[in-house]
Amino acid sequence: MACELCQKPALLLCTGCRCAYYCCDDHQKTAWASVHSKVCRLVGALGSARAFCTLEERRQRDETVRQQKLRIMQTSIMCGTRHIFSDRPGLAMPAAKQALTMAAEVFGASSVELIRPFLMLASACVLLGELNSAEGYLSQGEWTLIYAKSEDHALRAWLFRGWGQLLAARREWVQAKWCCAEDVHHCAEAFGPQDVRCTLGYFRLAESLLQMEKFDIVSSLFRQIVTIWQQYFYGEVEEGEVPHRLSDPEVIEALHVLTLIRKSFTSTGDDAAAGSSLAALPPGMAHGSVVKV
Ligand SMILES: [Zn+2]
Ligand SMILES: [Zn+2]
Repeated sequence: MACELCQKPALLLCTGCRCAYYCCDDHQKTAWASVHSKVCRLVGALGSARAFCTLEERRQRDETVRQQKLRIMQTSIMCGTRHIFSDRPGLAMPAAKQALTMAAEVFGASSVELIRPFLMLASACVLLGELNSAEGYLSQGEWTLIYAKSEDHALRAWLFRGWGQLLAARREWVQAKWCCAEDVHHCAEAFGPQDVRCTLGYFRLAESLLQMEKFDIVSSLFRQIVTIWQQYFYGEVEEGEVPHRLSDPEVIEALHVLTLIRKSFTSTGDDAAAGSSLAALPPGMAHGSVVKV
């Protein structure tokens, strides 16, 4: 048997699911903290396949397995996103790999569903300082998108965000800014320019412009982020309009953005107008106690 984490020969078996093997205590503990504690039961259910007799039973069984794998994938994406935005890249890696495996099993090895796990792996690698590995994962994500001939703006935005993060880590600010601008453009195409899901893109764009000392644009981008969030919490909803409900990973991202902008305003402290309007946001927001979902 191979270790879930490093693929080395493994003898330690998880007693919960009796499916996951590990080479050492350390890898079992890491996997548990990363994602396995959340999916152990589901993984165990996958392993306990009952024998089937009729075609109909077989069809039902296949569908159940598919749904279980889909839940493992979604849970892994949640865990990975949380670890990345909490700056725990080492814990994000196993979750992202689990998401990738499940996405490939459910949707096929060249499906666009693999792009998100690839980007999570890239993001974790950037945070770990493994920039060449990050580039490898981003390229795989990009090839998957090209192969699928997908025109999906949200996926394109994510890919550009990933490249932007890598180039910023390499301190190549001009190219990083270009990728961030593409991220914002595709996000705006996908969700509309005033959508909260665009705000991380705006923030990353502002960060690279800050490095290029374009303070005026940075200031206006920060104000834009604050305005979008105020509209989201306090704005009028037009009749017949259904407000977008953020998915769980989107909520984690949103809280991350709000923490980032709050930190920026307290550290710079020179943008009084935007700073005071930000102060009007619910005080618990940055700690996750108040979130509209
Ligand atoms: Zn191992
Ligand atoms: Zn287990």
